Amino acid sequence: MDELFPTDKTEAPDSRDDDAGKSYAKIMPFDGGGQAYTYAVPAEMAANLAVGSLVKIPLGSRSTHGIVWEKNATPEKKFAKKIRPIAELCYDFPVLAPDEIKLCEWISGYYAAPLNSVLQTVLPSSVRQGVRPVLDRKISLARELSPEEFSGLQKRARRQAELYCALKDAGTLSRSALNFSPQIINSLIAAGIATEKAVRVSRVAYSDIAASPEKTAPAIRLNDEQSAALAAITRSIEAGKFRTHLLHGVTGSGKTEVYIGAIREVLARGGSAIFLVPEVALTPQTVERLRHGLENCGANVVVWHSHLSAGERFDAWTDMARGNARVLVGARSAIFAPLKNLRLVVVDEEHEPSFKQGETPFYHGRDVAVFRASLCGAVCILGSATPSLESFYNARIGKYELNRITKRIDDHPFPPMKIIDMRREILHAQGQTTFSRQMLEAIEDRLRGHEQSILFLNRRGYSRAMICTACGHVITCPHCSSALTYHRENQTLRCHLCGHIESAATRCPACGSAEMRKRGFGTQRAEEILAQKFPDAKIVRLDADTMSKKNEFRKILSEFRDGKIDILLGTQMIAKGLDFPRVTLAGIIDADLSLHVPDFRAAERTFQLLVQVAGRAGRGQLDGEVLVQTFTPSAPPIQFAKRAEFDEFLESELDRRREFGYPPQRHIIRHLFRGNDETRVATIAEKWANFLQEKAPGIFEIRGPAPCPTEKLQDNFRYHMWYFCDRVPAVITTLSRLRNEFPWDDDVIEILDVDPVDTT
Ligand code: ADP
Ligand code: ZN
Ligand code: ZN
Repeated sequence: MDELFPTDKTEAPDSRDDDAGKSYAKIMPFDGGGQAYTYAVPAEMAANLAVGSLVKIPLGSRSTHGIVWEKNATPEKKFAKKIRPIAELCYDFPVLAPDEIKLCEWISGYYAAPLNSVLQTVLPSSVRQGVRPVLDRKISLARELSPEEFSGLQKRARRQAELYCALKDAGTLSRSALNFSPQIINSLIAAGIATEKAVRVSRVAYSDIAASPEKTAPAIRLNDEQSAALAAITRSIEAGKFRTHLLHGVTGSGKTEVYIGAIREVLARGGSAIFLVPEVALTPQTVERLRHGLENCGANVVVWHSHLSAGERFDAWTDMARGNARVLVGARSAIFAPLKNLRLVVVDEEHEPSFKQGETPFYHGRDVAVFRASLCGAVCILGSATPSLESFYNARIGKYELNRITKRIDDHPFPPMKIIDMRREILHAQGQTTFSRQMLEAIEDRLRGHEQSILFLNRRGYSRAMICTACGHVITCPHCSSALTYHRENQTLRCHLCGHIESAATRCPACGSAEMRKRGFGTQRAEEILAQKFPDAKIVRLDADTMSKKNEFRKILSEFRDGKIDILLGTQMIAKGLDFPRVTLAGIIDADLSLHVPDFRAAERTFQLLVQVAGRAGRGQLDGEVLVQTFTPSAPPIQFAKRAEFDEFLESELDRRREFGYPPQRHIIRHLFRGNDETRVATIAEKWANFLQEKAPGIFEIRGPAPCPTEKLQDNFRYHMWYFCDRVPAVITTLSRLRNEFPWDDDVIEILDVDPVDTT
């Protein structure tokens, strides 16, 4: 049965006598503002209570849950009389191990987030509420009846006799599946004829994904570069000390096989591993490969991401806490998994911005991964074909060990990248200017040869904006400083920042003119043009609008893999990590979209995008080709990507960042101010800036305040300030102290984002 969940809860007696020799503990409630409170430990709880235990406590007039933060606390004498006892110990094991508690404290300090908000991120809500596992109550026969006994039962209680027969036929049946009233079942149990046993139900996500049969072919033999990388990582695993490896392997170089090799090493030593992927959508594919690669290791591969049902989440969590699961695949928050004896953390596509959480606590999953590995003395592998500047820099200064795979599997050539100058194209254009002639010809070639194309456009919707040609008015969101995007299917205008929807106007709201034009283009428009040009092709669009259904993504990708789709058109979600051998054309419809944005990482993002999209082509036996449409063909990231000059790009970008004082050589903390009264937001930001100058002159470089690039979002006006520093912790301590001293305006919300990824 379930050793972790005793059926009898340890209840506290309702006495409040405080005799001497009583012990106390500090409890951190989940909803208490990030502060720990002292409680008395009832004697019968003392033995089982540990730091990290989940308890139920009275707080004010309500009852809530919290974590034991400190044992053997000494309460202040004057409060001793008022101290209340812990009401209940929910599980007989700590829900946070000591290293996880240290991790929470570090996140809270580094990211300036209250501890309770960190705990809400780290523990699933079902665990925080002390939910009990779902038990399936199995009924079976305790003994067989003699013919006389049976006929006696039949006369006395016909329904009980029928239940007896049902159980005799089936062996064991779930109580919930039985067509008998509880009284009848209970009577049969009371008579000692049937027994009942509670079995924990485990709801497993993606249990339908097994190792795919086609891949059960011969085991993969690593090539020289893969072996060398794995050997270096294995040395660190053997050493049993914390170390971070940056695995820089070009797209299609077989990094995943190296990760699998490292996980096997760790499993063989009794350890466990976390495998982080940047996107929920990528988990099924990764789970499949890991389940296959680890088939004979006796390890259960568990899945973790935000789309799990509460039940699946709870069961996965308890499986790990029980030590039943030793490999976890998941998105960002999987880094908090309660795996026992954690020896390895893999962060695949470590450069992806999605590892950064966009709300409090604003933690970066990759950085937390490195820190957690350091706490556990584990090995961390950061893998990418396009490492982030941060990780590249850390490898350069010797903090990380750099391992490289420079060749694709079987020495497969890189697809040549052709840059199409759209300035020239537009001169020759007749009609649409979304696709160049070269791009259309390339697609047509693929259709003729029954090969596949992936086309990439990082803007969904039909057009970028609706503009009045008479007066120049652009229809904007009433809640945000953003133009509304026209969506064709139901003639609506939508805000991509806040989700506002209105029906598309036929007349200009400003001047009444009927001359409304759609400007710019999105995936819907691109799809329409493709459908006109290639009426016989099977074209599928994959973006946030077509992805509303839960398993839609998996379905489309598997159809694409099976060759049922000729052209896959989508936003950035198709640029990542996908592996389709029959794709021979990768096209970027507008490379300038990521280049001309107010973000100091714009060049890095553009370079990564180009290299990643290019990596989707020519992965199988067929040669690939990459076409990039741009109005700025000479931009450095485009040129470096074209020549596949990774180090050259990274070095030149590092120089540029140094020149402007940007990360990775320094850290940035972004301070965001927002509220629905613009003057008050601007005023408070200005006052705070003056306050900082006065109280802490020169401790860090300050830029701003200034309106954010997205000045207004969901009816909030936004200003920000930037703090530049060499080390975060000292600055955060000072900032936190000063924030507590400053007279804030209640109608202005201010938030610190340490090492920000979002600069809008
Ligand atoms: P990456 O993650 O670096 O882009 P993958 O790990 O997805 O590359 O590998 C690309 C493809 O090559 C996969 O289909 C994988 O099964 C195959 N592969 C990897 N290593 C080898 C190897 N040593 N021999 C043969 N095929 C391999
Ligand atoms: Zn107008
Ligand atoms: Zn909006």
